[in-house]
Amino acid sequence: MSTLQKRQPALIDPFQRAITYLRVSVTDRCDFRCVYCMAENMTFLPKADLLSLEELDRLCSAFVARGVTKLRLTGGEPLVRRGIMTLVGSLSRHLRSGALKELTLTTNGSQLIKYAAELKSHGVERINVSLDTLNAEKFRAITRWGDLHQVLAGIDAAQAAGLKVKINAVALKGVNEDEIPSLLDWAHGRGMDLTIIEVMPLGDVGDERLDQYLPLSLVRAQLAERYTLRDTDYATGGPARYVQVQETGGRLGFITPLTHNFCESCNRVRITCTGTLFMCLGQEDAADLRAPLRTSESDDRLHAAIDAAVARKPKGHDFVIDRRHRRPALSRHMSMTGG
Ligand code: SAM
Ligand code: SF4
Repeated sequence: MSTLQKRQPALIDPFQRAITYLRVSVTDRCDFRCVYCMAENMTFLPKADLLSLEELDRLCSAFVARGVTKLRLTGGEPLVRRGIMTLVGSLSRHLRSGALKELTLTTNGSQLIKYAAELKSHGVERINVSLDTLNAEKFRAITRWGDLHQVLAGIDAAQAAGLKVKINAVALKGVNEDEIPSLLDWAHGRGMDLTIIEVMPLGDVGDERLDQYLPLSLVRAQLAERYTLRDTDYATGGPARYVQVQETGGRLGFITPLTHNFCESCNRVRITCTGTLFMCLGQEDAADLRAPLRTSESDDRLHAAIDAAVARKPKGHDFVIDRRHRRPALSRHMSMTGG
């Protein structure tokens, strides 16, 4: 594990955006096979390519030393990574020192029964749980392998442990579009915010993207027929735009990477489980941080590689669902960069 860090300069990109939010994919594996995220027969990375828990800790700590104040663990499914609680426990020292304001994760919820209380005891306050439907059969069809009841029990466990839960749902044309009001009532009824995500053209998942794509402008218009949606300036440092739903008193977020541009305020970078740094979710450019990690015990090379990468952070992305060629805009899967 990393020892005391030298004081390092903050990470500011060429467009004067400070990088304060790091998302780390701790594994490419998952116990689900969501249709928009993975193909059913995925080939996963060889174990030797993955960063060890110690390397993940060192990498995250290097970013914390550079001014990252929010760290999100994701995947694949972060809670299926063996030893994940060791990593969470060790990263929690940055919460205690005050360097990190938030340590959080995005999960499919399947392992929360087991881990919710421990997450809370390590200083995790809020988590995002991905859930697209409350219908058990549909849930199985979307996730291919998931069990809705296990996830719902996991959400119960998380709330019982005192974790604040936000639900993320991907809007899927003809699949859950008619269910969004009931998801909203359910989430808000339990004191959970809901964020709806527009499906993104990432990775070949063996399904037809154009068949999944549902513009959130349409979802919002439909919701506005039933609910009073008030725009708010509430921001979590993420790309979601939030409205307050008058009838439920809860918050509803929309993440619309395809129809909206949220790049101007982007404060984040992403690392894959092999130590590849992506400066933008929507661009291919990346930097390898595993080699500088593995070839030197000092963090100097690592910091130099991080600096060189952040200096290349692009101004924005240009997602398109390619209507002529019908192929994903980017070849990597969401489970690599973690969303
Ligand atoms: N396994 C965890 C989960 O499902 O929450 C964390 C990783 S998952 C890749 C992170 C988020 O990305 C989930 O909310 C998932 O629904 C979303 N996601 C995956 N593929 C997507 C896609 N093609 N378009 C939009 N969202 C996607
Ligand atoms: Fe797994 Fe999350 Fe991808 Fe679903 S969205 S397959 S739960 S990584």
